[in-house]
Amino acid sequence: MGAFIEFDKVTKQYGTADRVFYALKDASFTIEQGEMVVILGPSGAGKSTLLNLLGGMDVASSGSIISCGEDISQYNDNQLTGYRARNVAVVFQFYNLIPTLTAYENVALMRDIVNDTMDPKEALESVGLGDHMHQFPAQMSGGEQQRVALARALVNRPDILLADEPTGNLDPKTSEEIMKLLEQINERGTTVLVVTHNKEIVNQMKKRVVTMHDGVIISDEKEGGYHEA
Ligand code: ADP
Repeated sequence: MGAFIEFDKVTKQYGTADRVFYALKDASFTIEQGEMVVILGPSGAGKSTLLNLLGGMDVASSGSIISCGEDISQYNDNQLTGYRARNVAVVFQFYNLIPTLTAYENVALMRDIVNDTMDPKEALESVGLGDHMHQFPAQMSGGEQQRVALARALVNRPDILLADEPTGNLDPKTSEEIMKLLEQINERGTTVLVVTHNKEIVNQMKKRVVTMHDGVIISDEKEGGYHEA
C-alpha cells in the first residue's frame, strides 16, 4: 500500500520553450490520510496551483500525483470528473454561494451531482448552522456564508478538503472560528490542506506547515509556524 497522497517531481509550467515559467517546480512530498497541512507563501508562490492539481482541477506538465491511493495524473477527463465529485471538496476565499438559493438549497444542489450525499440538514448542523438553513446568503455574515460553503463541501463526504484562503475575507475572530472548524472536520477524519496568510492562527495550531516560494517548496515542518519570506 503506497502513500495516501504523493507528489513525485510535479511541475506545472507555462509559456514556450524559450520562455518557460514555473508555477510549480519539482514538488515532491507525501501526506498521510487524516493529516492537516497548512500551506504558506507569498502571492504567486504556487499554492493554488498545488491545490488545483491535487483537486483534479488542473493537470501537471510532468511528474506523478497519487491521491487516495490512485495515480490521478494518469486519469482521463471522465475519471477526473468522477474523482472531483467523489473524493475532493474545495472552499475558497469568496464563498461562491448562489444568491437566490437558501443555505439549505445551496447545499442540497450537490445531490444533483453526487449520489449518496449526506442529508443537507445534517451537513449544515455539522458546521453549526442548524438555525440558519432557510436564510439567503445576503442575510448571513461572511463567516456564516463560509460555513455554508463548508457544509456544501462536506455533504459528499470527501476524503480530502482543499481550502484556498478560506479566511481571506474574514475578521480575526471569525477567521479563528473557521480555522477551528477546519480542525474539527480534520479530527472527524477528512484530510485537510489549507492555504492561509493567518500568521497568529498558524502559530497557535501547531500543524504541519509547508512553505512555498516561486513554485518551490522551501520548507516542510511537522509542527510548523509562520516564516517571513
Ligand atoms: P499562489 O496561489 O501562491 O498565489 P498560483 O498557484 O496562483 O500562486 O500561481 C503561481 C504562478 O503561476 C503565478 O505567478 C501565476 O501568475 C502563474 N499562473 C497561474 N495560472 C496560470 C495560467 N493559467 N497561465 C499562466 N500563468 C499562470
